[in-house]
Parts: sequence; C-alpha cells; structure tokens
Amino acid sequence: MSTFKAPKGTYDLLPPRSATFLAVREAISTPLRNSGYGYVETPGFEDVKLFSRGVGESTDIVSKEMYTLTTKGGEELGLRPEGTASVLRAALQGNLHKLGNLPVKLWYSGSYYRYERAQAGRYRHFSQVGAEAIGAEDPALDAELIILADQAYRSLGLRNFRILLNSLGDKECRPVYREALQDFLRGLDLDEDTLRRAEINPLRVLDDKRESVQKQLVGVPLLRDYLCDACKAYHEEVRALVSAAGVVFEDDDKLVRGLDYYTRTTFEFVHDGLGSQSAVGGGGRYDGLSEMIGGPALPSVGWALGVDRTVLALEAEGVALDLPTATSVFAVAIGEEARRILFGKVTELRRAGVAADFSFGGKGLKGSMKDANRSGARLAVVAGERDLAEGVVQLKNMETGEQRAVALDDLLDAVRAELA
Ligand code: ATP
Ligand code: MG
Repeated sequence: MSTFKAPKGTYDLLPPRSATFLAVREAISTPLRNSGYGYVETPGFEDVKLFSRGVGESTDIVSKEMYTLTTKGGEELGLRPEGTASVLRAALQGNLHKLGNLPVKLWYSGSYYRYERAQAGRYRHFSQVGAEAIGAEDPALDAELIILADQAYRSLGLRNFRILLNSLGDKECRPVYREALQDFLRGLDLDEDTLRRAEINPLRVLDDKRESVQKQLVGVPLLRDYLCDACKAYHEEVRALVSAAGVVFEDDDKLVRGLDYYTRTTFEFVHDGLGSQSAVGGGGRYDGLSEMIGGPALPSVGWALGVDRTVLALEAEGVALDLPTATSVFAVAIGEEARRILFGKVTELRRAGVAADFSFGGKGLKGSMKDANRSGARLAVVAGERDLAEGVVQLKNMETGEQRAVALDDLLDAVRAELA
C-alpha cells in the first residue's frame, strides 16, 4: 500500500465492480439518447455565485455541503454540487435557447462534490447522470422524463423502487401556501435552527427526517389544498400521461426536495433496499431558475440519477448485470519466437475488432494458461516452436476444452467463426 489513501468520503472504482458503474451510466443515458437529448459536458467548477444564486443560499447544498476555493488569481469558485445550474448556464452561454428549437434537451454524466457526513450511500464525491429539458412548459415533457427514468431503471433489472410525485405550485400559489405553512410552524415546539429554517425556507421543514419534527407535523397545511387552478390542471395532466404509460407512482404531499429552484412537478425515485440513503434519483420543474441566473424566462424540467446508489440498489436486489467479458481471445506463447509471432497476431485480431489479450511477463505455459482462465476469454490461442514450425497455432475453446490446430494465416477467420 502507498502512504496515501483516497480522501474521506470517497472511494475508487476498481475492476471488476467498475464495469457495473459504466453499465449503469450507459443504461441511464440510452433512453435519453434515444429521445432527442444531446450530450453536454461542463466544467467541474463554476463561479461560486452560480450555485449560491441558482441552487439557493439557504439550501444545505450551498450553505453546508459546497466545496469552495479561492484561486491564486482571486476567483471564488465552487466544485459543482449538482448539474442543473451548470447545464442551464452552458445552454444560455452557448445560445442554444435562441435557435428556435425549444425545448433544448440535454443529458450529462459526471462527478459531483458535496461535503457531507460520509456514510454508506452518501459520499463526498459521487456520480450522476442527468437530463434537462429547457424552455418549454408542457406537462408531456415532465411526463417524458419520469417515464425515461423508469425505463432506465427497469432496463437494468431494478424492481424495488418507487416513484414519489408532488407539485410545489408556482409563483402565484406557492407564496400563499408559504404564509400558511409558516403560521403553522411558528406554533410548534422546534429548535432554534429549525425555527430559522421555517422563516427562510419553510418547505424544507417538511423534509426534516427527524421523528421529533415529523410527529409535530400532523395536520400541517398541505400544498395540494393551495394549488392554483393552472397548477392543479398541469399536475393532473402530468399524472394522467405518466399513468397512461403504465408507470406507477405514489402521490407524496410532503415531497419538497432540497433545492430552491423547483416549481410545480417534483419527484423522487426511492429504493427500499438502501436504508436511510433511499433516494436513487430525483428531479422536477424549475421554471424560475433561468431568470435567477440572469437569463430570460425559460421554464424547464429535469432530473439527476445517482449512479453510486443505483449500483447499491442493484446489489441490494441481487441483480447481476449481463456484462460482456472484456476479452474474447487470449494468446499464450511458449518461447521467444512464438511470443513475437503471437503478439503480432493479437495486434491483427484487435485491429479487426476482436477483443484480444496476451500473456505478458514471460510466464511459462502453466502461468500463462492461468492468465487465460482469469481473463474470462472464450478462446485461447496457444503456440510453441513446434506449432510454428508447422505454420499452425492451437485454438482452444475454453468452455468445452476442445482444441484444434489452425493455420496461422486462417486464425482471424477461425476465431470469428468460433465466436459467432
Ligand atoms: P439526499 O436527500 O439523499 O441527500 P438529495 O436530495 O440531496 O439526496 P439530489 O440533489 O436530488 O439528492 O441528487 C440526485 C441524486 O444524486 C440522489 O437521489 C442520489 O442518488 C445522488 N446523491 C446526492 N447526494 C449524494 C451523495 N452525497 N452521495 C451519493 N449519491 C448522492
Ligand atoms: Mg442531500
């Protein structure tokens, strides 16, 4: 071991488990790429004000969890704690919204950083795949995103997840509700921190996980009863479209989520096998965010799914992904001349698109065959001086153990035929 360890709250992705992470990212992005979403990549850090304005000064993400730094040039930067603000910033900066093709649909995949209390399923460096549909107020777009996330999880074989759905209202009805909620919260026996939160961001109190708070919330005013007609109609349409797609969800009156910018549709994907870190993904509509960061009015909706927790959910359900083995053919050469020739053959196979590997390190037959077994390859190509003198190699089927001589010049065709 080296003197160094991965920092607290982080971990390395190593083979073979790392293959599952790649497969999860692939599975989440496939339905998006198939639905008109284009790939976007933004820097790992941004002007810290993008997040304090966009995500919200009073949120835990900004006030407690964001990694901030001052550069030698005096710039104040934040490591990105989430993707939406950056993606919207990039879309505005790149003028994607001016091309007359709204909504702009984008997807992303990357690392995010939050200074959290590290525990199982909660890390300081984690990975998300996300999607944003920018610049249209259309319940079908909200429904599309919920349906695509459901499709992604199902394609992985996940079953024990639930979709929670709520509406947070808009700038007409939310302030009225906010007042009513604050009046209610002021009458409760809450600690100072929570009372302060009730003044700044009262909806967040609904999200408080503590039993002592939750039991006082019996009879709390619910946003559902305050939604304006437009929000009510919008929400009903989202629900109807999601249901019509055969996607089952639960209405959750208390679902608020941790970011300030959400309006109307808000949803979360929870998995029942993950203990208290149960949210595998979440999202919602953020109609006001563009204006908050200095852009024009661009009503939008999006989600981010956590790759780390999705992998944990797969493990909790005992789902083994059908991962293709990396290597199809493994070459074992005995003797210097055979090494040179087989190394050339491996190069030729690779250039022809066959996944091939070679026994490195000058091992003997036994050690090399061990390598071949470990590689998971379906075929081994074995050759020593005597084979080469006859112009052949031995092609061994690793599943059946059958072995036959193949002319050196016919190797590529023989390998292709065996693998087909
Ligand atoms: P939580 O309530 O668990 O803190 P969150 O609401 O902060 O989650 P979001 O900001 O909505 O999470 O991020 C979307 C997804 O990213 C989450 O559902 C989760 O799967 C993942 N995620 C968020 N924070 C972490 C973290 N610290 N470690 C691992 N995954 C995370
Ligand atoms: Mg969080």
